[in-house]
Amino acid sequence: MSQNLSAIVIGGGVIGLCTAYELTKSGVEVTVIEATHPDSIGCSSLNAGMIVPSHVTPLATASMLFAARKLIFTRNGPLTLSLMPQKDLVDWYMKFIKSCLQKNIEEKEAVLGKMHMLSRSRFLELEVELDHEFQVFQRGLFNFCKTEKAFQEESHTVDLAKKLGIRAELVSKEEIRIREPKVTFEVIGGVHHLDDCHFDPVLFMTAIRKKLMELGVAFIWNAEVEGFDSAGDQVSGVHFQGKTLAADQFVIAGGSWSSRLAKNLGISLPLVGGKGYSFTVEQPPQPMGACCLLHEARVAVTPMAKGIRFAGTMEIGSPSPIGQIGMRTSKIQAIRASIPSFMPKFQQAMEGSETVSAGLRPLSPDGLPYIGHSQKYSNVWIGTGHGMMGMSLGPVTGLILSRQMTGTGEMPKLEVPHLDGVSNQKIAQYCAVDRF
Ligand SMILES: Cc1cc2nc3c(=O)[nH]c(=O)nc-3n(C[C@H](O)[C@H](O)[C@H](O)COP(=O)(O)OP(=O)(O)OC[C@H]3O[C@@H](n4cnc5c(N)ncnc54)[C@H](O)[C@@H]3O)c2cc1C
Repeated sequence: MSQNLSAIVIGGGVIGLCTAYELTKSGVEVTVIEATHPDSIGCSSLNAGMIVPSHVTPLATASMLFAARKLIFTRNGPLTLSLMPQKDLVDWYMKFIKSCLQKNIEEKEAVLGKMHMLSRSRFLELEVELDHEFQVFQRGLFNFCKTEKAFQEESHTVDLAKKLGIRAELVSKEEIRIREPKVTFEVIGGVHHLDDCHFDPVLFMTAIRKKLMELGVAFIWNAEVEGFDSAGDQVSGVHFQGKTLAADQFVIAGGSWSSRLAKNLGISLPLVGGKGYSFTVEQPPQPMGACCLLHEARVAVTPMAKGIRFAGTMEIGSPSPIGQIGMRTSKIQAIRASIPSFMPKFQQAMEGSETVSAGLRPLSPDGLPYIGHSQKYSNVWIGTGHGMMGMSLGPVTGLILSRQMTGTGEMPKLEVPHLDGVSNQKIAQYCAVDRF
């Protein structure tokens, strides 16, 4: 136990709270500082709630570069790139292209595979530790395809998953009817990623916050950290609202805004925001069992505690100020319009007027998160850059950071031999904060 050690966690999203939880369990006295209020709907609440061992391939690959060329020229398509001549943005694009051309994709896939599977196990434990106030549904994730071309492309993900020891199967149209009998899908087939799961992120975030409060974690809401006190390789305090708060250790888990904070300390953290939207149909015409991706539309669909959530689009750009994320109606309409061709019974539901939320995914140029401490400061830790997979990787990020910070506890073992062979050092190397 790390008695008498204190830590300030900046950011109350999934990464900040999972890290705060693991630190508290190791005996660290934790304070969480969050710029917004507890009920604000940020990225960690509005997402699709998918735990995705299927997503082992990082965003930055040669095939993504190829696909992006087409997607960005599709009017109201699922991908938009900001072309503002901002230095940080241009620099990020250059690093992204460089990462796409790197040859170490298989190592990255093994690293992400291990992290997702560890996180999945931790989620199942958290279900119990958080008093069953949220539930993990182990029903897998379907990736549904309408075209033969997409179906062929997706079949490679089955081979990749199998190579890593992750369960996935190709499914025909008929098999889909058997596995998901209550929804009419107009698709030719797909992949069932059996190790994937889903949960309701609002219930999870509420449950972990409540548990942290019961464990004595202090929360400071509506307080944006603006700067730090530092000397040599140590930070001693943070500034917010004209006050200074001291601690032994500091965690930057500010999502898409983390690079602004890191810049205050002279730490370079290439990061942009990938805007996405979601809305929840509270009275769906058909009930769903498992979550799914509508492949060609690039829309995620997840059964939630109250209804079915639809999520999509990726608009890449510099993050707008916290709490001021604009929305493009045309993008939201495009998500709505793409759904009935996959789920015809949802045509009328897509004409509804549910509240739409927008959030920024924190995107690193190579698609791997930043987890660890900067060479510049020995007591500043960073957990961000998880992009489209921050919920899925939240628990494992908390575990890794708390173990690195306190030097206590072994990482759990995985009963997937190939992935268990991926060392902690390899994960630390690929997620290193100073890798760019
Ligand atoms: C539409 C959509 C669907 C998604 N679906 C999935 C999914 O199914 N599965 C999945 O794994 N991931 C999904 N994601 C991605 C996932 O939501 C994110 O990766 C994750 O929420 C990022 O968590 P975070 O804690 O890093 O950042 P955030 O949730 O953004 O939290 C960071 C917090 O830090 C605070 N902050 C920032 N700067 C400061 C400061 N200076 N002082 C104080 N506070 C500060 C912010 O206010 C914010 O609350 C989705 C994202 C979107 C947009």
